[in-house]
Amino acid sequence: MTDTVFAPSAKPRAIPVREILPWAVFGGLIFLLALYFVGAEQGATSIFPGVYIHEFVHDGRHLLGFPCH
Ligand SMILES: [Zn+2]
Repeated sequence: MTDTVFAPSAKPRAIPVREILPWAVFGGLIFLLALYFVGAEQGATSIFPGVYIHEFVHDGRHLLGFPCH
């Protein structure tokens, strides 16, 4: 009979906040940009004229529950 013991020799290495912070800020900006285009690019809050961007993200808008029509 053998006993199996799990004893990993490699320890996980912590990622310094200084290395994560720029990527977190970049991801946050991309998220906010996507949130604007999906949730608010319509009518009075529209930056770009026309309905092309609204129609492009229209299914995502309904999927996420933003009011539309
Ligand atoms: Zn709609």
